[in-house]
Amino acid sequence: MPHASQSRAIKAAALVGSGLASYARTRRAKETTILTFHGLCENVGDPGILDWSLHLPVAVFRSICALLAAEYRVIPLAELVEARANNQSLPDNSVIITFDDGYASNFELAYPILKKFELPATVFVTTGFLDGEDMMWFQRVDLALSRTQKEQINWKINDNKLSLQLGTRKERQESLVCLMAEMKELHDMDLLGEVDRLELALGVATPTLADLPVPMRPLTWDMACDMIYSGLIEIGGHTHTHPILSSCDSMAMRAEISTCRDRIRAETGDLPLSFAYPNGGADDYNRESMLMVREAGFKCACSMVNGRVDEHSALFQLPRYGSPESVWEAEATVSGAFETLKEWRQSCLKAMSLI
Ligand SMILES: [Zn+2]
Repeated sequence: MPHASQSRAIKAAALVGSGLASYARTRRAKETTILTFHGLCENVGDPGILDWSLHLPVAVFRSICALLAAEYRVIPLAELVEARANNQSLPDNSVIITFDDGYASNFELAYPILKKFELPATVFVTTGFLDGEDMMWFQRVDLALSRTQKEQINWKINDNKLSLQLGTRKERQESLVCLMAEMKELHDMDLLGEVDRLELALGVATPTLADLPVPMRPLTWDMACDMIYSGLIEIGGHTHTHPILSSCDSMAMRAEISTCRDRIRAETGDLPLSFAYPNGGADDYNRESMLMVREAGFKCACSMVNGRVDEHSALFQLPRYGSPESVWEAEATVSGAFETLKEWRQSCLKAMSLI
């Protein structure tokens, strides 16, 4: 476990153990929490993947679902949209479960657990990934750094010169973090060319979809439709190729959003209700993206900016939390304990600055 997530897990366990979570759960019952997951995996540590943060062990997911089913009220995202349209309030301690990208493990590992606990969820799909056209660009970067025989390369990007150390797995993971931060700054038009050049420099071929490690594989449309027919799962949009929308020009942005909507409608027969901005940070989408998503017929959109949903939250930038890595972290998140602690810290700092 990396150091940051280890200290987060300890903090979460302390918040739950100290009773702050149960205090926050009562005090903040009117707020809604939206959780974001990506893929699930059976075992952590497939040597073929460098970034494991996108693939939560299924046992952890199962225990989070057991907690949510016992102590919280898991509702579909559609209920939030409907409540807002009718000016109604949501049930106390409500939680919304979402998955981003559209991994096969959503069907193979998460769906049986959601069915067992009768928990609804939304799966935001990257439609080109499900179509089998291409893997997502960040998967290619991960695999290129993971599969190369090189032990080091110098890489110039955004006027920075990076020395990417690739000798050990840990060095490859650190190089990936460093490189991804730079690649997310590139203009959308330059991104795929940069990935092509990187594969060439690292001496690796572009992998085919069949060549992907199991946790990275996409859902098929049949799997997506199976989940929809259960009435428990909604399929939402997440663009066609997973670009960062704020780095796209207007035409590309519109095409990403409308192609995604059209592919979902063609394959499932339904217009998707909800959308999630790729990467989802405050700088990863803009006013134009929000307007285009709305014009395309979506009724709400989720960001990845951390926060809790209340009646004032904007429907086209709903805040979400990233995947909890333990059941304690899930409880500290959905109860509002993390948020309460953050507010206390801020008011303490404010009070200190006034002294
Ligand atoms: Zn995504």
